[in-house]
Amino acid sequence: MEDCLFCKIADGRIPGKIVYQDDDVVAFADINPVAAHHILFIPRRHIASMADLTEEDSGMLGKLFARAAQVARELGLSEPDRGYRFVTNVGPQAGQSVQHLHFHLLGGRGFSWPPG
Ligand code: AMP
Ligand code: ZN
Repeated sequence: MEDCLFCKIADGRIPGKIVYQDDDVVAFADINPVAAHHILFIPRRHIASMADLTEEDSGMLGKLFARAAQVARELGLSEPDRGYRFVTNVGPQAGQSVQHLHFHLLGGRGFSWPPG
């Protein structure tokens, strides 16, 4: 999409600290990290939010989740005494600020529940 920040990062029009990319998925460091590890996983194709997903996206989503799990393992976040969050915000009440589907991989500190 022409005027979308994350489409621009995915196709290199705006620089990002890319952690992983393939034909369907891109992962890059969040510019304003709220944990020691804060990586965003997005589909390369523009999808506004989780609310717009369909079953046709299942292959991409499987790949995205598996890659996020792999990155978490590589960061040591899957060790028995550690852990991480993998979350997506949908709409204004959840605080979604960028209208391109993204999942936050957060790790490196403790998280409370329920979330704020
Ligand atoms: P959300 O509030 O769930 O929509 O998350 C959007 C995230 O995008 C926030 O955590 C921002 O810090 C992050 N963000 C905004 N602009 C950039 C950028 N240029 N590069 C990397 N992350 C960004
Ligand atoms: Zn986009």
